[in-house]
Amino acid sequence: MERMTALGARRVTAWVGPHICGRCYEVPAQLQDEVAAAVPESRSTTSWGTPGLDIGAGVRAQLTAVGVPVVDAARCTRESPDLYSYRRDGAAAGRSAGLVRLRGAA
Ligand SMILES: [Zn+2]
Repeated sequence: MERMTALGARRVTAWVGPHICGRCYEVPAQLQDEVAAAVPESRSTTSWGTPGLDIGAGVRAQLTAVGVPVVDAARCTRESPDLYSYRRDGAAAGRSAGLVRLRGAA
């Protein structure tokens, strides 16, 4: 956000789109600890009781901390059969993309 503001951004809004949710994103405990040390909101527990990460919660927390409004368009890619999921489908899964849009001054 600081860099974007320095480059002239005046209004920044973020959309958090589809991603694997914290109930589905199992990770090793050491990785969870490393990520949660930087962004505590990322720590989660999977629906089957193992260490997890909630990447969306971590991203939303970081954006909110710097005053960026967040539009939550998230759905769990693993739980939504109409979305690509490497965790659900393996290497044959399709790929998703993100985007950044620059709008002219208003
Ligand atoms: Zn999920």
